[in-house]
Amino acid sequence: MAQAQPCVLVVEDEGAQREVLKYNLEAEGFSVVLAENGDEAMLLVAEEQPDLIVLDWMLPNVSGIEICRRVKADPQTRQIPIIMLSARSEEVDRVRGLETGADDYVVKPYSVVELMARLRTQLRRTRPASMGERLSYADIILDAGEHRVFRGGQALHLGPTEFRLLSTLMEKPGRVWTREQLLDRVWGRDIYVDTRTIDVHVGRLRKALMANGGDNPVRTVRGTGYALG
Ligand code: CA
Repeated sequence: MAQAQPCVLVVEDEGAQREVLKYNLEAEGFSVVLAENGDEAMLLVAEEQPDLIVLDWMLPNVSGIEICRRVKADPQTRQIPIIMLSARSEEVDRVRGLETGADDYVVKPYSVVELMARLRTQLRRTRPASMGERLSYADIILDAGEHRVFRGGQALHLGPTEFRLLSTLMEKPGRVWTREQLLDRVWGRDIYVDTRTIDVHVGRLRKALMANGGDNPVRTVRGTGYALG
């Protein structure tokens, strides 16, 4: 595994639909969290920071459109891609007209193959390393599909943890990550690791990146954590 797999939040009030989506998403290698209604959805968006939301239009109480609006209005969550599911194509036309900020729309009944393709398109943009893409930053190239790293054209040797760490940093150059966020992403949420372990692996990553010369690209942000560049 290149890094912690993308987490998909499914918001759907119909149990059978929810289970079908969970089954198919897990078969694709994603981790899945489920919400039955808007309140649950907003809670999980805040708690789990999902990488993508599959959102049903027709929900009791708070509609899918309203959830979409709230997620896209919050600077903390607006970058999360939303794929809206709707029962009829007229609804898709309406949701487009409403400019809720949904990233894509799929009409029910949908083909699972098509939905997964749309999902991968969104994740290639927001989680490229986890989707096996090739990333570059300055003179560093990370090929997530081939599991290889180059700097200045020379192959580098990274341990698996350092590779996941670099993948995470290279997906969002300039972003400041806290140690807790890096732990969640690199080790996974369910594993207890001391935050000082991060410092050890960042040290190893820097050493590997500078093995053939070149300056240190991983910045320490005092009192917070780390950033690439
Ligand atoms: Ca529904």
